[in-house]
Amino acid sequence: MNELLKLSAAEIGSKIAAGSLTSVEITKACFEQIHAVDAQVGAFLCLDEERALAAAAAIDARIAAGEKLGPLAGVPIGVKDIFCYQGLPTTCGSRILEGWMPPYNSTVVDRLLEAGLVIVGKLNMDEFAMGSSTETSGYQLTHNPWNLGYIPGGSSGGCAAALASYQVPLTLGTDTGGSIRQPASVTGVVGVKPTYGSNSRYGVLAMASSLDVPGPFARNARDAALLQEVISGHDPMDSTSLVSELPGLTDAVGKGVDGWKIGVVKEFGGDGYQPGVESAFKEALAKCERAGAEIVEVSCPHFDYALAAYYLIMPSEVSSNLARYDSVRYGIRVGDDGTRSMEEVMNLTRGAGFGEEVKRRIILGTYALSAGYYDAYYGSAQKVRTLIQQDFDAAFEKVDVLVSPTSPTVAWKLGERMDDPLAMYKADLCTIPSNMAGNSAASFPIGLSDGLPVGFQVMAPALADDRLYRVGAVLEEPLLDSLVGTSAWDALYEEAK
Ligand code: GLN
Repeated sequence: MNELLKLSAAEIGSKIAAGSLTSVEITKACFEQIHAVDAQVGAFLCLDEERALAAAAAIDARIAAGEKLGPLAGVPIGVKDIFCYQGLPTTCGSRILEGWMPPYNSTVVDRLLEAGLVIVGKLNMDEFAMGSSTETSGYQLTHNPWNLGYIPGGSSGGCAAALASYQVPLTLGTDTGGSIRQPASVTGVVGVKPTYGSNSRYGVLAMASSLDVPGPFARNARDAALLQEVISGHDPMDSTSLVSELPGLTDAVGKGVDGWKIGVVKEFGGDGYQPGVESAFKEALAKCERAGAEIVEVSCPHFDYALAAYYLIMPSEVSSNLARYDSVRYGIRVGDDGTRSMEEVMNLTRGAGFGEEVKRRIILGTYALSAGYYDAYYGSAQKVRTLIQQDFDAAFEKVDVLVSPTSPTVAWKLGERMDDPLAMYKADLCTIPSNMAGNSAASFPIGLSDGLPVGFQVMAPALADDRLYRVGAVLEEPLLDSLVGTSAWDALYEEAK
């Protein structure tokens, strides 16, 4: 592997600014790594080599001309295939959008480009971001770099796997119920779900609009903070975009947790949590204690109902959001041979274009919203959502942050949970409450269990995303250093069978 790939995004950015590295050099190094390992990893759905190298050369020219650019100018990045980016297809992992070319950029993509980041390609994901393993993608499997037979998490599995195999130093994902934090956790990288509304959803394909939020993936806390600062901020194109500014995030890295109270969520442990996950979590808590924090147990009784309420609210929004894929306006059209009615063509298109998990959720959501069931299902779930928010509010009166394992288990074998939706859904048991409340949360790598990464979740109030980084910087372990050079690492370089 080219040694340049081991540099952090912050280091790459400062070397480029200082003229000791060019964006073209690092971008070329990323493409070489992608060509060497991605046949085995399967992270990228498409690459944009020519345009990326031209963009990198343009950054180099501006720097050579003495222009002062931001800290991530010239740094390569991969984006989840849920973000509209003109010139590349946007599929959201679904066959129904095969070949669809977006007519505009999402705001967060524009912000990356304005900050001088170099977009190298689009990353694989679960279909319409529904899943925890990236196996519901209509296109390809993505493999966990720690063991190619294991899932990379989901739905942003491509983002996580590309980072963990050193193909790019940064990626951009989205989190609706855990889709940034859980893949980060099972691949040993950092993943942040920002405060809802702090990043624009304009041009981001909708899954569940009251929960979706774009957020950064990186190999360390500082890099994630830098990326979050680039993408966040008010956007008049998104009616739910917050006007309030986030506190300084990179400033928070290194400030530590001395004197802080850290609340361990009592409900998230015990049955169903792997012993290796629990012991890594305890060790990380001890580290926080050594850094001067006091650890207390906090009960959030309604968190136990978060998963059930999520599987009513999210599918309800999904059933509405995905109605736009009607064979008329976007993507593929099936059976339009002049003999069929529009309704038949629509049925054939949706039948062929959507996968099983997407159909399951559309049906669930349609049912939950139907007259006669609305109050019992959707209405009750919304009440639970309020109770979860109140649990958070009460907890944050007593503690600075809440913490838990990110996911009850480490990565599992590909295929293992595909016939058991409930087992799949349980991967997000600990991550969903923060989406329900709109709060910020993140996962940081802390150690290994049976050779696979374990993540530590930090949950903070809305607009207090800086607290995530204060904890994360104290406890993160550079796990990926220990992957490079092992036999698992060598397997990445073997030709695809
Ligand atoms: N895994 C969860 C789900 O399938 C979360 C998905 C997400 O955050 N996009 O709904």
